[in-house]
Amino acid sequence: MQFRDLKTQYKVLKDEMDKAILDVVASSAYVMGPKIKEMETAFAEYVGVKHCVACNSGTDALLLALKAWDVKPGDAVFVPSFTFFASAEVIAMQGATPVFVDVDRRTFNMDVADLERKIEHTVKAGKLTPRVVIAVDLFGLPADFKAIRKVAEKYGLYVLEDGAQGFGGRIGEQKACTFGDISTTSFFPAKPVGCYGDGGAVFTDNSEWASLIDSYHVHGKGSDRYDNIRIGMNSRLDSIQAAILLVKLKAFRDYELDDVNKVAARYTEKLKDVVTTPIVPEGFYSSWAQYTVQVEDKGMRNGLQAALKALDIPTAIYYPIPMHRQTAFSYLDLDENRCPVADQLADTVVSLPIHPYLSEADQDKICTAICEYLKK
Ligand SMILES: *Cc1c(COP(=O)(O)O)cnc(C)c1O
Repeated sequence: MQFRDLKTQYKVLKDEMDKAILDVVASSAYVMGPKIKEMETAFAEYVGVKHCVACNSGTDALLLALKAWDVKPGDAVFVPSFTFFASAEVIAMQGATPVFVDVDRRTFNMDVADLERKIEHTVKAGKLTPRVVIAVDLFGLPADFKAIRKVAEKYGLYVLEDGAQGFGGRIGEQKACTFGDISTTSFFPAKPVGCYGDGGAVFTDNSEWASLIDSYHVHGKGSDRYDNIRIGMNSRLDSIQAAILLVKLKAFRDYELDDVNKVAARYTEKLKDVVTTPIVPEGFYSSWAQYTVQVEDKGMRNGLQAALKALDIPTAIYYPIPMHRQTAFSYLDLDENRCPVADQLADTVVSLPIHPYLSEADQDKICTAICEYLKK
């Protein structure tokens, strides 16, 4: 059994995928070129924003957004502690200071009351300038952007949506990757829409920021690429990856997103009485980058994971170490960055195999194994 079955997906898409890849190979337009424009247009249209800039990874996408806003030393950027390292790493890469915010126990997303507490504390301490809040759509569920935006507006902060896992999610009819002043996603293979390597994208309605990001992602180019007007980076998406993403987006839109939601609903139905299943608040729709359950304590979690492994059922711990406890951030004040819910989740979560091609038989095997283990 696979945790995320990319082999089966390839088999289903093979004819169309092979042709798309070989067309790029034959075209010799490997870097930039028409496939990139086509992909950027299709992805901007899908989520519903004016501008999409494709880049080399979800990490670079976040970094490019912070560069467009000139986030720098002395700035505070608020980010959930329970996330993948990159969400926080980019803040430090710009020389700014991450301030870690706790998360909600049931949605895994930013706790807005704690966000406000951490902003107030930062303002009072008077050492840093609050600039940006990075809200993560963890495990595919959009963060509570209505509440986050209210707080951001109160304190004059930009909202950056880290939609690396959120692509395809919705709040009402509005799609993920449109909730930030700038939003980003990742096309790492295991994400809701993945390419065959690294890739990412930045989304915004703001033309000025879009053109800054376009410049930063190609060596700070000006009117042409040998006229360099700022220090940038090399963060282009490969044309082959763009071609792959166009095929993947079609499958995602046509059936994968529906199918993965069916898998999630089935898990919840079968597991809701034995473990704490993830919730999707009223009006929200998840793209189920992960299906993450909680048990009572670390011993039970590790025991369950071992029992499943013995039955050849792969699981993963997202995430075992919250950001405020990462060695790389040990220079920060642990007390000011307290996140007790993130601490607890790190011990009690386990993510189950989930993808649009998971068979009912495999899913039944997983659910039965979990029920049997927890009954003991
Ligand atoms: C995967 C991920 C990233 C980074 O994306 P890459 O494409 O791997 O650089 C950033 N934030 C979150 C929440 C992620 O899950």
